[in-house]
Amino acid sequence: MPAEQPHHRTRRDGQATHYPYLPDAPHFIEQAVQVYLRLSDDGTHWIVDGPTVDGAPLDSALHDESAANDECACGRPDDCTALRAAADRIPLPTGAELAELLRDALPE
Ligand SMILES: [Zn+2]
Repeated sequence: MPAEQPHHRTRRDGQATHYPYLPDAPHFIEQAVQVYLRLSDDGTHWIVDGPTVDGAPLDSALHDESAANDECACGRPDDCTALRAAADRIPLPTGAELAELLRDALPE
């Protein structure tokens, strides 16, 4: 049995684990969010700080806060720009929603 390739593991949500950088793949539209941490009261480890779990959408970690498609390999810029604009109208996840998204991204 061949060694398991990280790109071929199955996520719980059925999405591809990584973007394949192929022209016929779905568009690669990215965002990133900030998860604020603070040092635990006993000073021994990091904990998630209150602003991350206050119920509001997380802050974007991208410089202009907009979704990015710079690495999309589609070669269809009009399509790609329209989808990126649509993605910018989708609220970023709250902390609780991010916890679910992380769970969904883990291998089965
Ligand atoms: Zn694209």
